[in-house]
Amino acid sequence: MNMNKNEFYRIKIEDLGNDGQGIGHIDKMAVFVKDTLPGDEAWIKIIKLKKNYAFGKLTELITPSPWRVQPLCEKAASCGGCTLQHMSYEKQLEYKWNKVKECLERIGGVENAAALMEPVFGMDTPYNYRNKMQFPVSRNKNGELQIGFYAGHTHSIINLEECPTGHPVNTVIIQVMRDFINKFNISTYNEEKHTGLLRHIITRTGFETGELMVCLVINGNNIKYGDVLYEMLYERIEKWKTSDEGKKYENIKLTSLMININTQKTNKILGDVSKVVRGQGYITDYIGDIKFRISPQSFFQVNPAQTKVLYNKALEYAALTGNETVWDMYCGIGTISLFLAKSAGHVFGVEIVPQAVEDAKENAKINGISNVSFYAGKAEVVAPQLIKAYGDKARADVVVVDPPRKGCDSVLLDTIVEIAPKRLVYVSCDPATLARDIKYLSEFGYELRKVSVVDQFSHSVHVETVVLMSRVNAT
Ligand code: SAH
Repeated sequence: MNMNKNEFYRIKIEDLGNDGQGIGHIDKMAVFVKDTLPGDEAWIKIIKLKKNYAFGKLTELITPSPWRVQPLCEKAASCGGCTLQHMSYEKQLEYKWNKVKECLERIGGVENAAALMEPVFGMDTPYNYRNKMQFPVSRNKNGELQIGFYAGHTHSIINLEECPTGHPVNTVIIQVMRDFINKFNISTYNEEKHTGLLRHIITRTGFETGELMVCLVINGNNIKYGDVLYEMLYERIEKWKTSDEGKKYENIKLTSLMININTQKTNKILGDVSKVVRGQGYITDYIGDIKFRISPQSFFQVNPAQTKVLYNKALEYAALTGNETVWDMYCGIGTISLFLAKSAGHVFGVEIVPQAVEDAKENAKINGISNVSFYAGKAEVVAPQLIKAYGDKARADVVVVDPPRKGCDSVLLDTIVEIAPKRLVYVSCDPATLARDIKYLSEFGYELRKVSVVDQFSHSVHVETVVLMSRVNAT
């Protein structure tokens, strides 16, 4: 059988792709079909045909997958934020666990990975978990105000009143922003023409402290009536806290209204400069008993409840006794470094973003932690320099890495092999690159011992993993 564009085919979906599309096969050729799940049998129309794969559009569901559920959010199918809300949470977790297993075996060359894998760590209630939201703002063709999320793979905005993955206070913030924009005729950004002022609304919520930041990303240097907006937000949030729903979130308090200046024609959300309109230039929050200062630009894990689970696993795998020298590579604002410091001799943190390193130093200070030092630069460049500068004092007993999706630089892996730590704890947001790096390290005397999958991003396909590797002949 040859496949043709615009023709209809019957397909059984077997797997999920990286963006959450279902994958099935027609005549041995992989076909990606949005809005389908493994277990679905469907009629599809081929909309794009490539040499080795194709894209199909769901036209009729013949037999729905037993994994299908009604999404909580009515915009879930079109919104690019949640790609798996139509899949039961239990199956999402099973899917993520299996994905890691499959990567470890297929790419990592690990035999029987399941034997090393702990049961998946999922959320009890996989909603309202995100501490950071970024809502693009624009107007549609009819001039109607749009605040929400981008639809999958496009920049058209799905207008939202609320989002079940975020903190409920976001619903109030969106309402107030609509009122403010309308009342004061605030212009909104037009991406194509690069005109208009307001681009994004970013909110950050300290789940423990209740501190709340609203940051407006603007294509300009200032926003008029900022003080009025602060008052409007403050009053409406306080009023909401007296309602039946709001009562549950009494600790929430608007502590910061900021603007971020982004006058570039770019897909990057944030510009380099942020200014305070009212309140502080940051929020604080806790993970465990460590306090963090978080500014608009800082990377901070988005799911605080699960971050605690993740970092506790990293701590457990590091098995520190109090004397060890520890490296925390790709350390961001020093979250893992500070989390481990209380059980270690000394922690060296390395991070490429200078601003994050400043935050890390500040975070060490506000927690009174002195057995850490932070360095700005590329991990693969700074790590060998540490050894050169400090010799055995910097020679790590335990190395933690938490790289971005592309995984570790091979020079860093070589440096790790050379200094031969007893244990390596690898925190990863991409199981494929994790497996690639595990394979490499296992050729140089390291063995995979334990694996945990921690669900940080419920209803999306993203998978977070933490693994322990040990040096084979380590005592
Ligand atoms: N461990 C931190 C941050 C992890 S995100 C946490 O849990 O919060 C990955 C971090 O790696 C980002 O902060 C990014 O800026 C940083 N990074 C990216 N490439 C890097 C490199 N080559 N060397 C050092 N850090 C890098």
